[in-house]
Amino acid sequence: MTRRSLETLVFDNTYARLPEAFYAKLNPTPFQAAPYLVHANPEAAALISLDPAEAARPEFAQLFGGSMLAPGMEPLAMLYSGHQFGVYVPQLGDGRAILLGEATNERGGRWDLHLKGGGLTPFSRDGDGRAVLRSTVREYLCCEAMHGLGIPTTRALCIVGSDHKVYREQVETGATLVRMAPSHVRFGTFEIFYYRKQHEQLRRLADYVIEQQYAHLKDAADKHARFFSEVMERTARLIAQWQAVGWAHGVMNTDNMSILGLTLDYGPFGFMDDYDAGFICNHSDHNGRYAFNQQPYIGLWNLSCLAQALLPLVEKDALKAVLESYQPLFDREYLRLMRRKLGLQEERTEDDRLIRDLLGLLQESHADYTILFRELGSFSSATGAANDTLREHFVNRERFDDWAVRYRDRLRSEHSQDAERRERMNRVNPKYVLRNYLAQAAIEKAQQKDFSEIDRLFTLLQNPYSDQPGMEAYAVRPPNWGKHLAVSCSS
Ligand code: AMP
Ligand code: MG
Repeated sequence: MTRRSLETLVFDNTYARLPEAFYAKLNPTPFQAAPYLVHANPEAAALISLDPAEAARPEFAQLFGGSMLAPGMEPLAMLYSGHQFGVYVPQLGDGRAILLGEATNERGGRWDLHLKGGGLTPFSRDGDGRAVLRSTVREYLCCEAMHGLGIPTTRALCIVGSDHKVYREQVETGATLVRMAPSHVRFGTFEIFYYRKQHEQLRRLADYVIEQQYAHLKDAADKHARFFSEVMERTARLIAQWQAVGWAHGVMNTDNMSILGLTLDYGPFGFMDDYDAGFICNHSDHNGRYAFNQQPYIGLWNLSCLAQALLPLVEKDALKAVLESYQPLFDREYLRLMRRKLGLQEERTEDDRLIRDLLGLLQESHADYTILFRELGSFSSATGAANDTLREHFVNRERFDDWAVRYRDRLRSEHSQDAERRERMNRVNPKYVLRNYLAQAAIEKAQQKDFSEIDRLFTLLQNPYSDQPGMEAYAVRPPNWGKHLAVSCSS
């Protein structure tokens, strides 16, 4: 395996070769205080054939903190627009992110290196172009946690910090996050050219994305329609995974929707502790537009915005047909994932009911979503088994007992073996998730320049399905102080 240094990274900047209407070229703005490494991700480094040992060099923090460029980088801020909380905003764009370049690896893979928090761009609007340490720690840990869970996501290469002051509700310090994805094109990238009536640019963008990311479609006569269909599918599957793991994005604006169906733009996201279908993780989302149980519908709403933007390229009826297949696909996929969480291998019509009734019980009991499903793995299907530990999670024990009899019968009907089923369930019901309060503890230490908790969580969450010795304290319900931490868009 080749191990490249910072100086010998190889770039192939396809986005920078698109027409100038797509971006603004500019360099990052260095911090006013020296950059220092907070954490680096060796697995992400390997994706661009970068020697992980390079993270120890001072140049690493300079480069990824925005005060230096590597040979071959052509930094630019991407232009896009989007619907924010249901309202079209004609121009957004990377207001505090800069695409440094597209790094290639030795296998021909190409990864955007996207520096978040690197200073003002022409699209910064009222913002300062910066990110605070707090928000970069959250994004860094969560995207690697999602990856560990097997959920499509942008990746994170590193966090660089600085004593540079950034003003939010209070004075904080700045940091940069380098995130990676095969592409950072969003639904909103299509919307801007549609609403500006720049149909040539729109076609150019669609053809570019197809050629780069959906290459198997590039010679198809109906390639734009099929492209939309694949984006729909990936989006439906992604959101089904969010729902199954109990995760809310918090700001599902169309500018935060990846054209690759990746989890993108981590802000006030949250894993649920107590199960609550109406969970709102974003403190600023007063109407609950992006509440947990709204996410599947919002996925469709956002796809409708993308469909609208594709009208100059695809017949209306073809777009409609794709949109109509979203809900059935989502339902199938969600049911499939939930069956696996219950350890069911066969499909029965009553499964949907069984799952919904369990969720109803969790809601009523404020039971912890992650813990409950993990413990469900130990459910005994023996006749007369009381399943006492599990039972304790529920306020209405008789209702749980009724449900447990149905579950037992359902398991028996497919000759389920408890021990084997438990192993299977443990592979899909995580033991460890990035609970808000765990991230908060890592942030508070990091603000004191102690990065050990980031490292501990980073390692833990790479293997969320395995019992890890000595880490029991990370798999329990939050303490009282950590239950309702307010997280907003201000990051
Ligand atoms: P978000 O909700 O984080 O996806 O951000 C929405 C838009 O606001 C994007 O265009 C961001 O680039 C921009 N933005 C967010 N925070 C800042 C900031 N501190 N400075 C400049 N632009 C920002
Ligand atoms: Mg965004």
